Amino acid sequence: MSKNLNISIVIPLFNEDESLSELEAWIRRIMNENNFTYEIIMVDDGSKDNSWNVIEQLQQQNSNIRGIRFKRNYGKSAALNTGFQAAIGDVVITMDADLQDSPDEIPELYQLIQKDNFDLISGWKKKRHDPLSKTIPTKLFNWATRRVSGINNLHDFNCGLKAYKKSVVKSIEVYGEMHRYIPVIAKAAGFNKIGEKIVQHQARKYGVTKFGGWSRFVNGLLDLMTIYFMSRFGKRPMHFFGLMGILVFFIGFIILFYFLIDKLFFDGFGAAQRPLFFFGLLTVVLGSQLFLAGFLGELITRNAPDRNHYLIEKEI
Ligand code: UDP
Ligand code: MG
Repeated sequence: MSKNLNISIVIPLFNEDESLSELEAWIRRIMNENNFTYEIIMVDDGSKDNSWNVIEQLQQQNSNIRGIRFKRNYGKSAALNTGFQAAIGDVVITMDADLQDSPDEIPELYQLIQKDNFDLISGWKKKRHDPLSKTIPTKLFNWATRRVSGINNLHDFNCGLKAYKKSVVKSIEVYGEMHRYIPVIAKAAGFNKIGEKIVQHQARKYGVTKFGGWSRFVNGLLDLMTIYFMSRFGKRPMHFFGLMGILVFFIGFIILFYFLIDKLFFDGFGAAQRPLFFFGLLTVVLGSQLFLAGFLGELITRNAPDRNHYLIEKEI
């Protein structure tokens, strides 16, 4: 296999055996028409159906295919992350396996990265073919993500169809359910040429969606808070907890100091009957706890293996 491929196509999949050969044939046609050198990395996220057999069969016929099979279902983020580590193409394109994303988009996505020098292009399913129960939460979710991340030009953060410069996928880590926020993660890593392309979207042809229900929405918002916090204070937790801790402690300190003066010089009694006294106690304890949390956070980041991991753009 040549070490200099134009494109790596990373496809995370979980129980998609009906779609795979159709998808492969479509991608192969587009690649050949455009004379791209390519690899298709199919990451089988612990499928329980026939997916892996299909991948093995396809690989026999097309040596541009690589298959990776997880021992169990770890989730789409894990599958993407593993595909990213394996990819060797100059441009890395991710797409869902269910034929909802169209391989016809690949040549233009490739040009946007290679010619227009974008770090990341996210697909936008402007005309979506999904049930309302999916599209309405998604609108809210995208709005919140825009506000928090400051990436104001993206409409559709969670689109499975995306294109990346190789350096982007080699520098970011996608874990948990963070695949929804890859543009945010990329921006936090310092890649800020992030763009969007309107893409075709089909209704699911075979199989069922793996992301249903409202739990994905709640989890999604919690993950957004994590990402926001990590990108702002991940490397300096004391600046968040320490400041909060000192402020809260200070309020308590003033209150307790007042009771002390009252008792010493003005014969004040019965502090224990005044709600303010308990409030003062509470805030002193809470403040020191917050401060301690910041201190522990610093100790942990000091000892983290990637503590001094910075991406260098140029050096002369
Ligand atoms: N997927 C995966 N692991 C999972 C769940 C989903 O690799 O645990 C894959 C799935 O097979 C598909 C892609 O992620 O290729 C998107 O999933 P799906 O089409 O169910 O999501 P939707 O389009 O409904 O949002
Ligand atoms: Mg889908």
